Amino acid sequence: MSDAPCIRYLRDYIAIPSVNPMRRSDIPAEIIGEARYADWLQEQLRRLQLDVERVGDPRRPSLIAEARVPGAKQTVLCASHLDTVPVDGMQIDPFDPQIKDGRVFGRGACDTKAGMAALVAALEQVLARGTLRCNVQLVGEADEELESLGARAVLQHLEARRPDWVLATEPTGLRMVTRHKGVAHARLLAHGVAAHAAQPNRGENAIFRLARAALAMEALATRLVESGPGGAGHATLSVGTIEGGSAPNVVPAEASLMLDRRFLAHEDQEEIRAQIGQALDQPELEQVTLDWLRIEKLPLATNEDQACVQRCRQALSNAGLDVRSDQAFFGTDAGIFSRHGIPSLVLGPGSIDQAHTENEWVEADQVSRMSEICVALFENG
Ligand SMILES: [Zn+2]
Repeated sequence: MSDAPCIRYLRDYIAIPSVNPMRRSDIPAEIIGEARYADWLQEQLRRLQLDVERVGDPRRPSLIAEARVPGAKQTVLCASHLDTVPVDGMQIDPFDPQIKDGRVFGRGACDTKAGMAALVAALEQVLARGTLRCNVQLVGEADEELESLGARAVLQHLEARRPDWVLATEPTGLRMVTRHKGVAHARLLAHGVAAHAAQPNRGENAIFRLARAALAMEALATRLVESGPGGAGHATLSVGTIEGGSAPNVVPAEASLMLDRRFLAHEDQEEIRAQIGQALDQPELEQVTLDWLRIEKLPLATNEDQACVQRCRQALSNAGLDVRSDQAFFGTDAGIFSRHGIPSLVLGPGSIDQAHTENEWVEADQVSRMSEICVALFENG
């Protein structure tokens, strides 16, 4: 099993750090960025006689490799992001891939270098056998873990040769995911007036103001749950960080918090912004403003009637796997492709429970099965 090409490739990929800087400045330069992993893949894919293009920021590149066959009726874009989350607090060596009890360990093992390994091994196999029946655009995109800069650059580059559908690999436990929420992040800023803490009445405490705003966000979060359809189908809001003040003996002039808002396919940025604005529209919150709001991931809501859903279902059925579509609670780049009018699905080996963890791993068997599913997809005209 550990000799299977997809497992060998996975170990190669894990050994190449490709950490997303996540807007931080404390991560060592030698593990940051997708460039090293992109270099490796580019060489590997060129050995398969594929044309490989690099797009986006040269320090944060994305790759597009194309395999074309005469008379193909469809083009599938298979996307597997190049970046991983950082490695703080990991209990294993993140870049020394080990196999134990049928599991492959390392940063990116399941999220989502396993997906790329399965895709590359499958493509290699069908090219060698001469059984490729559809055009394949194999994409390794940068920055999925933060702003999806890579997916946007890839879409722009492929405007003149759009694929018919997209398969994004993420750890879904080999379930076909057709729906997930979008992700927005926002920053609230509370303004005050600094003063000596011995004379607090001479100042205006920004942290007290921000605390009231945090409670208003909690109330909004409750309303989102209560007004939703039940289960995991509703929008959510959570406050993730809070910051402010300079010293215990200074009344703070400024404080801020960051919130995470998961939104549904029918909601848009303006609606979300207006809703937060409304929640802040109270006399005691006058000095709290919505500093910025950014959409990080777009929602996915692919119709079950799409041909790609049927194709994927067929490949899963051939592999003896569950063919029902599922909903993910995490966001992916599939939402971005989908918003551009390209039907998109998410499917990949491993569980999201092991993604981003201190001992990230993936079951080797799932990686091999994903590769078999990809072979079936590529051999289906
Ligand atoms: Zn991922």
